[in-house]
Amino acid sequence: MSSAIPELPAAASPADILRIGIDAAGGPVSLACSFSLEDVAIIDIAHAAGINLGLFALDTGRLNEETYEVADALVERYRLKIDWYFPAHAEVEQLERTEGLFSFRESLDKRHACCHIRKVKPLSRALKELRGWVTGMRREQSITRNDLKALEHDELNGGILKINPLLDWSEEQLISYSDEQRLPKNHLYSQGYRSIGCAPCTRAVEPGEDARAGRWWWENPEHKECGLHRR
Ligand code: SF4
Repeated sequence: MSSAIPELPAAASPADILRIGIDAAGGPVSLACSFSLEDVAIIDIAHAAGINLGLFALDTGRLNEETYEVADALVERYRLKIDWYFPAHAEVEQLERTEGLFSFRESLDKRHACCHIRKVKPLSRALKELRGWVTGMRREQSITRNDLKALEHDELNGGILKINPLLDWSEEQLISYSDEQRLPKNHLYSQGYRSIGCAPCTRAVEPGEDARAGRWWWENPEHKECGLHRR
């Protein structure tokens, strides 16, 4: 059964949102970590506030080396444990043997099929263990995220609580926080990347482009989610 969603105080800080969300979840809560600036900031905020937060990550098999370097830096800095989840090997083998290595560029359906095997199914396995999950989603990232809430039920994953503590942070705020705290940062950000996912589906963006314009850049903006955050 879904836990009730509590009222948040006006101007609740990310630490407040985390604390209140974790309390309301009434069981284990973990951050779904893609090692983005957002996720690293959440780890740091939780650490500084003494908030006990689990951490899991999806290894799709197509991540950049730079992303693993951030993971390693976080383990070193915070002495944390990462629960890695992999896709089912038989499904990846079948996908690559029958469709090739870059089928996700051929159609939206094929892209969704790859994300489903490499991300959505491992995420479902991870969430089955949890009463709540934390994400680094921010409202201003794209039009697919305009109506996010700080706390919401994830009806597609058993109604567990979804906690979005950086919902109202701007990119500027996030970068300042990361710089002030000298947080580990993916080197790809310094090459013009603003949102980093799998290597073949992410590119740097031009000045003035939407932060997520470099994700699946061959698709319409309305389709730029991988299925992890369907609502
Ligand atoms: S982002 Fe690209 S490579 Fe990664 S799972 Fe989705 S389609 Fe596959």
